[in-house]
Amino acid sequence: MASTPTYKIASIPGDGIGPEVINAATTVLQKLASTLGTFSLQFHHLPWNSEYYKAHGRYIPEGGLEGLRNYDAILFGSVGDPDVPDHISLTGLRLTIIRHLHHYANLRPTRLLRGCTSPLAALSADPSLLDWVIVRENSEGEYSGQGGRTHVGTPWEVATEVAIFTRHGVERIMRFAFETARERGRKKGTPGRGRLCVVTKSNAQIHGLVLWDEVAAAVSKDFLDVEWEKMLVDAMTVRMTLHPETLNTIVATNLHADILSDLAAALAGSIGIAPTSNLDPTRENPSMFEPIHGSAFEIVGKGVANPIGAIWTAAEMLRWLGEEDAADALVESVENVVEVGCRTADLGGNAGTEDVTSEICRDVERRRSHEDVSPK
Ligand code: NAD
Ligand code: MN
Repeated sequence: MASTPTYKIASIPGDGIGPEVINAATTVLQKLASTLGTFSLQFHHLPWNSEYYKAHGRYIPEGGLEGLRNYDAILFGSVGDPDVPDHISLTGLRLTIIRHLHHYANLRPTRLLRGCTSPLAALSADPSLLDWVIVRENSEGEYSGQGGRTHVGTPWEVATEVAIFTRHGVERIMRFAFETARERGRKKGTPGRGRLCVVTKSNAQIHGLVLWDEVAAAVSKDFLDVEWEKMLVDAMTVRMTLHPETLNTIVATNLHADILSDLAAALAGSIGIAPTSNLDPTRENPSMFEPIHGSAFEIVGKGVANPIGAIWTAAEMLRWLGEEDAADALVESVENVVEVGCRTADLGGNAGTEDVTSEICRDVERRRSHEDVSPK
């Protein structure tokens, strides 16, 4: 008998509702693994959060970053604390990991899950109109951390925020985006026909984004089976809202994709359900998976945080690890539960975090036992 794989997962619940939703995600993952029996998961919880920072003056202990390389994947909650400036917490934990492990591609799938309603009436009527993946450049661009301040606090203070675009950085994200578009084209049964929209702003950002456009055009020559087009970022917000069905795979810079993906999450019903993956596409380093929401201080400890962002994130982690069927099964269980009305307040319901989590576990088991009785 072939032995089943065991994946070693570093879990970093972090701050705020992070521990609540990561706890939900690990519970569901363990239920899925034990029910399917085709793989197993070993979690190692790392207490790296703002409490740790307040006690030790750093988010990541000595040797911690290197230690992450021993895992197959990282499951992350959120970081952010009322007592610590956001740029310190974000840089100290999340961005340090992303930079160190070369997570240069950030992937954000957006879909209207069965049972969720969109603020757009047209989408609620026909959810199939919205099915996107946003590929965000995750290592440079506007968030490269370059710049400085002089004459601080004086009327003639100067601050610069320098956007960095390297040919190497742009080319690798374009290749990844074209590959993602090709792959999605295949999956959807339209043989070899993927679609990619390259978001730009080269009419106003006339250096970095002109390079961005040129590299996109050059890389496209290696993907003649992918239909691609360019779109200015401001016009893109209009198109996402009015003609969502015309989009499929989208690639954008760090800043542009950050903003567009929040819009995408809102169109799909709630920020509480959206997942994101920070990937090292070379697979030399473990990738990191997280819900897109933050610490949500005002609901901490109330048991009302929506766990679906973290659970869908867990499904995306399984997909990256090669457990495609398990990932699909998990997302389907999530949809089954939302559809029958087991929803947290952000989705207009009154269920708690634990209600949703245990219903999803129940659905995982129920579907499995149903399959055993009547195999397809
Ligand atoms: P947020 O995502 O924490 O909250 C935005 C709104 O969405 C709030 O009303 C919140 O209650 C609600 N919300 C978020 N997640 C929810 C969930 N799972 N269920 C139900 N409602 C949910 O964003 P914010 O308020 O801008 O930031 C709060 C803190 O989180 C800040 O410190 C910020 O820096 C941090 N943050 C961290 C990350 C990250 O770790 N990747 C991402 C975003 C924000
Ligand atoms: Mn953001």
